[in-house]
Amino acid sequence: MSVRLANVQGRAALVIGDKVADVEQASKGRFGPDPMALLEHWESFTQWAAGVRSGDATAGLDESRLGPPVPRPAKVFGVGMNYRAHAAEAGLPIPSTPVIFTKFPNCIVGPRSDVEILSDYVDWEVELVAVVGRGGRGITEGAALKHVAGYCVGQDISDRKMQFADVPPQFSMGKSCDTYGPIGPALVSLDGFANPDDLAICCDLDQERVQDARTSDLIFSVAELVVFLSRYCTLAAGDMIFTGTPSGVGSTRNPRRYLKAGEEIVSTIEGIGTIRNRCVAAQR
Ligand code: ZN
Repeated sequence: MSVRLANVQGRAALVIGDKVADVEQASKGRFGPDPMALLEHWESFTQWAAGVRSGDATAGLDESRLGPPVPRPAKVFGVGMNYRAHAAEAGLPIPSTPVIFTKFPNCIVGPRSDVEILSDYVDWEVELVAVVGRGGRGITEGAALKHVAGYCVGQDISDRKMQFADVPPQFSMGKSCDTYGPIGPALVSLDGFANPDDLAICCDLDQERVQDARTSDLIFSVAELVVFLSRYCTLAAGDMIFTGTPSGVGSTRNPRRYLKAGEEIVSTIEGIGTIRNRCVAAQR
């Protein structure tokens, strides 16, 4: 069984079926309310959490109260062109080295947060998000998944106008606006998956399926990304990797399609869950 760690109005909570257990209360203070601190002690936390039963739940699960399960990551890596069909639709070659960019942590919001539409060229990208538990550097491929605390569903919301405003294109700014990184609904540990490298992933826009793939189509797997990144950057608990989006984004469609205020982005990954984000006109 996977451990499912959620953020209920700023407090760490375990999701057990349709209920939640407040971590600090259920552990009688052994673990505190900050989800980031739990990631620092992920092994002992998950060992304790595996024994928590629905009888320890303190409330029903109300998804409208959920914040991002990892609210303050030190680093948020993005990976470009990591699905073959997405590279093809963008007219770009299959990369031989991971294409890495930054999503600054201010973009991270919860699974029901609104996405502020800042231009007429804002696009969707459903992604598997891997969250680091035990940090390190020079991590080997065999050990890589042991350094991953779990997975979330994420949206790498992207302002294409900013991304392609000039030559060369810049990725980080147009993908780092406030609200452009919804994640959730929970951080799900890997032990409950038959194969954590092969999960159905899809995105619906107002009930129309726009992206539909499997994470086994990733060009660079989660383990390969951990090896690559940790060769250069020491990874720390809570760091996250947006692993890339499958085909079906709006900017490569004919005609092109972009997000509009009032639309709902529904993003789902098998075994993790669904996040729902309403697009709203920016107040900036
Ligand atoms: Zn992306």
